[in-house]
Amino acid sequence: MASTLGPQKKVATTNPTPGVLATKDSREIGRGKFGRVYLARTRAPPHFVCAIKCLMKDEIKKDKVERQVRREIEIQQNLRHPNILRLFTYFHDSKRIFLVLEYSIKGELFKHLQREGRFSEARTAKYTYQMADALAYLHKKHVIHRDIKPENILLGLNGELKIADFGWSVHAPSSRRTTYCGTLDYLPPEMILGAPHGHYVDLWALGVLTYEFLHGGPPFEAESQKDTHKRICNVDLRLPSHFSPEAGDVIVRLLKLKPEDRLPLIDVMNHPFVTKYKDIKASDFA
Ligand code: ATP
Ligand code: MG
Repeated sequence: MASTLGPQKKVATTNPTPGVLATKDSREIGRGKFGRVYLARTRAPPHFVCAIKCLMKDEIKKDKVERQVRREIEIQQNLRHPNILRLFTYFHDSKRIFLVLEYSIKGELFKHLQREGRFSEARTAKYTYQMADALAYLHKKHVIHRDIKPENILLGLNGELKIADFGWSVHAPSSRRTTYCGTLDYLPPEMILGAPHGHYVDLWALGVLTYEFLHGGPPFEAESQKDTHKRICNVDLRLPSHFSPEAGDVIVRLLKLKPEDRLPLIDVMNHPFVTKYKDIKASDFA
């Protein structure tokens, strides 16, 4: 695949996929910790549009995350699911690693949430279903994501979720790990307590995510990190009055202290909170 990389080059003005290359100069579409993300297309027809995430090798080395990046690539390359961002291929030179990714035209879900404050129940239910479906697929492949949060979710053309950022994911090992990682608000009690953890961590995060979509903020927010930890470990959950009984129920069932007590993903997908809105399309929202 020949990519059109390099700051001196611009995206072609002809539009290979209607609506995708809307602006002539929109080369850089994002910045991450280790480099930039560019919009690109293959030189050869059919001028396939993709996102290229460029990682700087020296930054990766400096932060000692070589293994993490390798894992991200290995895991993501083998995944095929409509709600998981595709990693088509990768290549590298002496300084950089280039990840050729599916392009998510509607960008970060987090930005939509910030802009809109919170999402309706119908929209949240759609997202909860898509997340549960994608997580069930990951878990079947013995992959745990471990860093589910709105910042790591992108939106596709039809408003569908795309789980991205597999930097913290692991192939579930036989002995569960006790590594501390992820973002504070989404950490499950067992990870805070340094106990072994498995795929159940993603179920907890799905509960936090569903709450955050409906409320506009995560459930265990507090003044200090210590207080957030305390609230998480006590499952100090307060449901806002505007949550419907079904929404409250699915959240309460996911946010269980004991990992094995959390609602299985198949039951999330069949929960009344989700089935109530099954006839509404994701494209009706974003
Ligand atoms: P951070 O850890 O700060 O989130 P990162 O290294 O994980 O950084 P990304 O989140 O992957 O970097 O990319 C940075 C930004 O680029 C994203 O927030 C998003 O807005 C945009 N972006 C990344 N990948 C894509 C994609 N495939 N399609 C559209 N936009 C993307
Ligand atoms: Mg990111």
